[in-house]
Amino acid sequence: MSSLAQTDKQSKYTLRCPFCRSKVISSQPPRPIYTAQPPPDRAEFSFVNVTESLGVESSAPDQPVQFYLVGSMWDFDNIGVSRPSSTINVEMSPIEPETQTLSLELARFLTCADCDKGPLGFAAQQHNTDTTQPQTGETLTYFLATNSCIYDN
Ligand SMILES: [Zn+2]
Repeated sequence: MSSLAQTDKQSKYTLRCPFCRSKVISSQPPRPIYTAQPPPDRAEFSFVNVTESLGVESSAPDQPVQFYLVGSMWDFDNIGVSRPSSTINVEMSPIEPETQTLSLELARFLTCADCDKGPLGFAAQQHNTDTTQPQTGETLTYFLATNSCIYDN
């Protein structure tokens, strides 16, 4: 088991919850990486950070956190959600600037489905979407913090 910094980009990993080791998602297929630019100025926007010794700490709010853009909730093997206590707007920019910045409103924090700990990432909805449509898990965009899981190969 490794932290992100110790992984080999060519290898396939199972990403596990750093608290209970439940499987969260597979590292394959590769996913585009986004950062929040600028990070929301809120203590609430702070994610689990796995240290090199596989300890767990909270990310410093001034550190840019990188996220995998996960296409669908069905890509996860296990994921839980919790609601944010207030409205958080977030601008997500791709690391490789070939696609556009996404202007989003955070709708859920992602937690481990088994132990409920987190947050490991978030789910968000596009601004100016049709509000007459019911908001469901399938209409959200998912972001998993790249350093919130343990990499198991
Ligand atoms: Zn867990």
